Amino acid sequence: MSEDHDRADGIVARLGRVRTRIADAERDAGREPGSARLLLATKTVPAAHVRVAIAAGANLIGENRVQELVAKGPELAGLPIEIHLIGHLQGNKVNPALRWAGCVESVDSPEIAARLGERSADAGQVLDVLLQVNVSGEPTKYGVAPDAAADVAAAVAQVAGLRLRGFMTIGANSADAGVVRAGYARLRELRDGVVGSGLAGTSDASELSMGMSGDLELAIAEGATIVRVGTAVFGARPA
Ligand SMILES: *Cc1c(COP(=O)(O)O)cnc(C)c1O
Repeated sequence: MSEDHDRADGIVARLGRVRTRIADAERDAGREPGSARLLLATKTVPAAHVRVAIAAGANLIGENRVQELVAKGPELAGLPIEIHLIGHLQGNKVNPALRWAGCVESVDSPEIAARLGERSADAGQVLDVLLQVNVSGEPTKYGVAPDAAADVAAAVAQVAGLRLRGFMTIGANSADAGVVRAGYARLRELRDGVVGSGLAGTSDASELSMGMSGDLELAIAEGATIVRVGTAVFGARPA
């Protein structure tokens, strides 16, 4: 019992520290308090621990794998939260993803967009999506290439059953803050171009989901509207 209690106290304390970091970064960037939302990246975190964070006010949860989303979904149902899918989605997992996620941040091809849109429209829904862009070009990362992203975004924006809400990226795996920040600036410029294009379905695409435990300050300085944080709140994940 006391071990669980310690674990819960730790989550709440760390959540508070992350909120302070976000507020400080917003202030340093001259941004409105609350303009960068905190999404908790909960991969490998048991539902009981996720619920501790929710009880402490967390309201936005991100899962990477549909299988984990399906497993934890029932334990989080009815709570005042929004759930996003933030990991690569395979075509054969579209239905369970739609069942549990209110937004898919990891749309990374016209094909997956078409499939999601078709199923969403069939269900009489409109699903919020972000286009994942691989700003660093690292081959281990999913996401459309930055040079192709404006065209893919314009296409996704027209898919029935989907609403393009913005863009997501995973920052460069670099110790050089300048390199990481340049990638986030690139996503912001891409967003500005798409939203300013006047093309059908692009006017709501203002979200920028970028920044994690180690670099959320850089992302907020470049305009992140969602930062995705895991380890800084829940501790290290099992290897
Ligand atoms: C795990 C994960 C995060 C959070 O990473 P931390 O370094 O633990 O904060 C953010 N985004 C995605 C897509 C992730 O998979």
